[in-house]
Amino acid sequence: MDADKTFSCEFFPPKTETGMEKLLGVRNELDTVMQPAFYSVTFGAGGSNRDKTLDTVDRLREDNAAVAPHISCIGSTRDQIRQLLDHYLERGVSRLVTLRGDMPEDGTGANEFKHANDLVEFIRTETGDRFHIEVAAYPEYHPESATPASDFEYFKRKIEAGANSAITQYFYNIDAYLNFIDKCHQANMDIPVVPGVMPITNYSGLVRFSDNCGADIPRWIRKQLEAYENDTDSLFAFGLDVVASLCTRLLEQGAPGLHFYTLNQSRATAEIWRRLNL
Ligand code: FAD
Repeated sequence: MDADKTFSCEFFPPKTETGMEKLLGVRNELDTVMQPAFYSVTFGAGGSNRDKTLDTVDRLREDNAAVAPHISCIGSTRDQIRQLLDHYLERGVSRLVTLRGDMPEDGTGANEFKHANDLVEFIRTETGDRFHIEVAAYPEYHPESATPASDFEYFKRKIEAGANSAITQYFYNIDAYLNFIDKCHQANMDIPVVPGVMPITNYSGLVRFSDNCGADIPRWIRKQLEAYENDTDSLFAFGLDVVASLCTRLLEQGAPGLHFYTLNQSRATAEIWRRLNL
């Protein structure tokens, strides 16, 4: 395996103890197959979801996993973020995925922080270099962005505020990623931008989610998935071919690692990993 590359997996906090037990099993399976550099845990805005992120991070840490909690600033106060940072430092966490977060549906929006660059700056001011800070990147542009140029400019601000590296929204068009990397080079930004990889295991869920987050599913993929909608084995096999081939090409083109959106399942990520022969 290329020691310079960072391979990681993302989990979301389970709602129940049964879900948590299952997740710890998924983590064991992934550890056996690919030994990721870290597991990231997503963060939901609002009190109860926040607690579930903390619980999940704590349980994974008790299991000695390297964990990178996501931390989002929408709807959070400076004090709440300070408490989270203290909690994570006490637990030996040294990496954060730092985000603005999705606007809650109830309309409560920005509070003391408006954008992810504000949060990166705050974390650096409060904790110096104690965390490796990851931020989000959007090769196909963030759905709320005014223009491609402004979206990239705001990405740059997050790096200038002190982020060390980035993880992208998932994409199936490799050219979108390569174009983003070209723009980083032209702007003299040499930070690692790790592709986010969404395994394909389901048709309707993927379409709905992609439409929301602005990830394009190319027509040739969408049409084939639609045709396999009621044939889960063929859909899984096709999805595996598409995503393993995308990952292979990304690594050949110099991607500094891969971040798998596992959706708390090990099978697809483990199969893709085996195909990469790393
Ligand atoms: P920002 O970088 O703040 O950008 C948001 C929008 O504002 C963009 O359109 C940008 O162009 C614009 N913008 C940025 N800075 C400025 C500025 N200074 N002035 C004016 N406009 C600006 N969501 C969750 O709720 N929980 C999670 O755990 C989570 N994990 C994620 C992990 C990854 C790797 C990715 C790619 C996304 C994740 N998301 C998560 C989704 C993310 O929170 C949403 O995409 C959110 O809408 C934007 O977050 P951001 O950090 O990219 O925001």
